[in-house]
Amino acid sequence: MKNSTQKKGGLPKLYCNLFGHSYEVTKQVTYHVKEYKCKHCNRELTTYSNGHLIELTPKFKEINSILNRIHSSKQARLKSRAYSEPSFH
Ligand SMILES: [Zn+2]
Repeated sequence: MKNSTQKKGGLPKLYCNLFGHSYEVTKQVTYHVKEYKCKHCNRELTTYSNGHLIELTPKFKEINSILNRIHSSKQARLKSRAYSEPSFH
């Protein structure tokens, strides 16, 4: 008798259908935006501007990398304190 225990293909998805995805953060884009990946089926999600999670498409990967660049340049500017303070009256 053949006893092949190949767990490729449908099983991870089945697992996710039964127990839900197990997302872990793969990238912190900004304070509020993160990228996630499911450990089981490799599905990728990202935080949308309204706080909801959506599918991470190549388009969103592009947007996120731009956001991340803006975010880190802001961080750099905060550290050097080169920004001009707004004056309120
Ligand atoms: Zn999954």
